[in-house]
Amino acid sequence: MDASQVEQDLVNVLFTEQQIQRRLAEMAEQIRADYEGKELLMVGVLRGAVMVMADLARALDRHVEMDWMAVSSYGSGTKSSGVVRILKDLDSDISGRDVLIVDEIIDTGLTLSWLVNNLGSRNPASVEIATLLRKPEALAMPVEPKYVGWDIPNEFVVGYGLDYRERYRNLRDIGTLAPHVYAPVPPG
Ligand code: 5GP
Ligand code: MG
Ligand code: MG
Repeated sequence: MDASQVEQDLVNVLFTEQQIQRRLAEMAEQIRADYEGKELLMVGVLRGAVMVMADLARALDRHVEMDWMAVSSYGSGTKSSGVVRILKDLDSDISGRDVLIVDEIIDTGLTLSWLVNNLGSRNPASVEIATLLRKPEALAMPVEPKYVGWDIPNEFVVGYGLDYRERYRNLRDIGTLAPHVYAPVPPG
């Protein structure tokens, strides 16, 4: 499957590469102002946040550290339950640090509210969240990201780190998948 075929599976582009970069630059400007004189420890949530982390960290254009966590969220099907297990913990000690959790999308908010509690118990100076996308359900949760790229409707999106069965993370744009992608493969 070549790159153009990957792009063809998108039925509707919500955000282009250019729009994403422009929005991240705006978020970076806000973050720079808020953390003036401080050095951020950016914590990316694997695997979806890889692209956002790479581009947001570079847009910040100042010293930052980057660390990563991988968590698995138990749930039925596509919905998380809030029961979270750490698959890969941070390498850094975050006590006294200004931590910025970087994520690509908040859906129910259950994973992130667990993560904020978990990191909050390690005596950081502060813990905030930056997410590129947020879905409506998250608005009802106590988790409040300080930096949000866009609020989007409740539909399944892929690209720019977001996967469908581990594919499409490497798309430059964000969009929804064409129905043929979900159609069962005919036998033979
Ligand atoms: P929640 O906020 O429900 O605890 O979980 C958020 C996680 O669910 C995201 O990090 C992402 O892995 C997955 N997720 C939620 N909505 C979408 C979506 O529209 N597309 C994709 N690809 N993943 C999603
Ligand atoms: Mg994520
Ligand atoms: Mg996924």
